[in-house]
Amino acid sequence: MKTETTIQGLTASLSPARSSRKIIGFVPTMGNLHEGHLNLVREARRLCDVVVVSIFVNPIQFGPNEDFENYPRTLEHDSHLLAEVGCDIVFAPSVEQMYGHKPRLTNISVSDITNDLCGLQRPGHFDGVAVVVTKLFNMVQPNFAFFGQKDYQQLAVIRQFVRDLNIPLEVIGVPITRATDGLALSSRNGYLTEEQRKTAPIIFQSLKEAEQQLKQAVNLAEVLENIKQTLTQAGFIVDYVEARTLDLDKIEVFNQDVVLFVAAKLGTTRLIDNLQVKYTV
Ligand code: AMP
Repeated sequence: MKTETTIQGLTASLSPARSSRKIIGFVPTMGNLHEGHLNLVREARRLCDVVVVSIFVNPIQFGPNEDFENYPRTLEHDSHLLAEVGCDIVFAPSVEQMYGHKPRLTNISVSDITNDLCGLQRPGHFDGVAVVVTKLFNMVQPNFAFFGQKDYQQLAVIRQFVRDLNIPLEVIGVPITRATDGLALSSRNGYLTEEQRKTAPIIFQSLKEAEQQLKQAVNLAEVLENIKQTLTQAGFIVDYVEARTLDLDKIEVFNQDVVLFVAAKLGTTRLIDNLQVKYTV
């Protein structure tokens, strides 16, 4: 496995794969890798000849009061894990390498779907994601790019600008990887105290309970309210509990497949999760 920290180095490492028309798979990450990330890499390994993983904590997707400075940076350990799952190239650029020294005057803004859910709580976040992912796509020029359904809205944003801008690659969504107690794996879980970590799986439990209620024909608004109450009683500060269609349209009545979304804080740690619920007649 090779590690590259410059765009020039990355291009040189990818040149043999490009000239022999190998299928290149790409997994963008912010590092501090866990099984959720590794499952994306395994999927890339399964479908592609050459697997590139980027590790870059992207400053422009963090708000002023968010955790950019404290975000865990564990490159050495991440590299060991990536070597074990068969990654070929790790791309770990510096902020200077990614953004240079001249001001950036171009933005990529996806409307509508970003004015909702996490987009309301984190203004500018998805623009920051769209810019960095586009830059990385141009550097790696992959055939396939892999993203987790854990960040469902992010995946929708990426699919949208890839389609709108004719970026020549295929986006693959990978299901959420969970701990045995149901908590969706996240680098931010590491911020939780022991006590909070015990409380955190209630998010997934409340989503599963909601799924049961929907199947028993409890009304959608009531189901969402029940999740809110469960979380609040358990000590969460709820940012939002919402239902959307698979395309992220608003939905009032459970008459098609829905995705239930939760964003909630335990102390200062913000956790997100979602669950797709199938509609069966
Ligand atoms: P991050 O390092 O948090 O930016 O995540 C990098 C990629 O890993 C994104 O596509 C995430 O959606 C994905 N990811 C993170 N956690 C999980 C998880 N628990 N299950 C599936 N994908 C995940």
